[in-house]
Amino acid sequence: MRRNRQTKILATIGPASSDFEMITSLFVAGVDLFRLNFSHGSHDGHRKVLDRIRKVEAIYNHPIGVIGDLQGPKLRIGNFENDSISLDKGQSFRFDSEKSPGNEKRVYLPHPEVLESMEVGSHIFLDDGKVRIEITDKGEGFLEGVVQSGSSLSNHKGFNIPNVILPIAALTEKDKTDLKAAIDMGVDWIAQSFVQKPEDVKEVKELIQGRASLMAKIEKPSALACLGDIIDIADGIMLARGDLGVEIPPEDVPSVQKNVIRQVRDTGKPVVIATQMLESMIENARPTRAEASDVATAIYDGADCIMLSAETAVGEYPQRAVEMMDRIAQRTEQDDNYIEMMELARPDTINTPSDAITTAAYYVAQDVDAKLIVNYTTSGSTALRTARQRPEVPILCLTPDLNAARRLMLSYGVHTVYDKDKIEDFTGPARHAAEIAIEKGFLKKGDSFIMTAGVPFGVSGSTNILRIARAE
Ligand code: ATP
Ligand code: MG
Ligand code: MG
Repeated sequence: MRRNRQTKILATIGPASSDFEMITSLFVAGVDLFRLNFSHGSHDGHRKVLDRIRKVEAIYNHPIGVIGDLQGPKLRIGNFENDSISLDKGQSFRFDSEKSPGNEKRVYLPHPEVLESMEVGSHIFLDDGKVRIEITDKGEGFLEGVVQSGSSLSNHKGFNIPNVILPIAALTEKDKTDLKAAIDMGVDWIAQSFVQKPEDVKEVKELIQGRASLMAKIEKPSALACLGDIIDIADGIMLARGDLGVEIPPEDVPSVQKNVIRQVRDTGKPVVIATQMLESMIENARPTRAEASDVATAIYDGADCIMLSAETAVGEYPQRAVEMMDRIAQRTEQDDNYIEMMELARPDTINTPSDAITTAAYYVAQDVDAKLIVNYTTSGSTALRTARQRPEVPILCLTPDLNAARRLMLSYGVHTVYDKDKIEDFTGPARHAAEIAIEKGFLKKGDSFIMTAGVPFGVSGSTNILRIARAE
């Protein structure tokens, strides 16, 4: 099940993709990690999905990463009698404090502070900005508005009110409950939504206590202002363009994306680009040219991972969406422009033995035309350092830590193998690595490869050896 690309694919699970057959199909089509969105569904439902993912992992003997995404202080509307409604431009629509299911004329808005603080003349943006409603009247427990754009709304859609600051905690009670459930069921990553400042990330990091890695979702302008400090605390970053693209002007999104990717890559931590990548594939079997370009652009920008949201959660063509991403990634990575861009944006080497070795591995691999870089690593930190170089050849990471193997699925070019065999000295490892690499389809007999390791073996953080080897 080797992937023929370096960029990773993360797919969101939802009603269209939660059964065992579809999870299997999506994995086979190219999914490296799955996202369980705790904004939707039940704990029991997520646990069942996770069990199915672990089953697929065992059948294919291939680590799969799982991300539990916490809703955060996201504003959402209530539900509708028939799950969804259609809207016409110019029609009036009301948000109120009635809990009953909504219809074409009204819906429950479970945030009293929003009903209070919105002014006549301001706008509510729903469903990642697809629906825009101008507030024309307000009263006790309701807001009345006129639809300015958008054609439909469905249950529980999120909304944004840019520039209005509400007194809501960074981590809600629901988030705390969901965080505990996600960790208990064994997710590899926790994604934290609507991070605004480094302290928000620190709070969750302390609650996690090392039981999962933490991904900070960047979707607020305030987070961009202190991005460096957020990256320092988090283990990875997601640029969540759905909400971000509503909170900042659309024309700012491309340059923000380039800057965020560059800044995160510099640290060696993985960065995910998310939302609306192949949006039209929710309904269509083929993407638009603009969407194909958007996916390619994230890859040219140097992202570790690209994500599918509604395309796989509720779309009509989950499997085709993954196949399409896979094809765009493979094609883009073969482009000479891409190889040149990765080379040009290479970060400086940090003066540590591990970074010196992984930088050297990058160059030596090119000079001897190696087909693979093998990292023996316990924590995975060497693999992160190697991924930071964005080598053209795959990185095969052999680790005795299954959790590290799953976590690393997010990182550029890193193919992980959970390797229980205990390595005691440096004579066996090259042969052992070659055997695994041949079995997994990364090497043929006679191919050169580069190997990094730490001597003595088994001591975390001691990478100090680089070896050129040949698969026999
Ligand atoms: P977020 O801001 O965390 O991305 P979201 O509401 O945009 O939240 P996505 O995971 O991006 O959620 O999924 C896109 C859409 O797919 C959602 O808005 C929702 O309509 C639908 N969806 C996703 N997961 C589920 C689910 N488990 N049950 C029902 N609908 C879902
Ligand atoms: Mg979001
Ligand atoms: Mg979304």
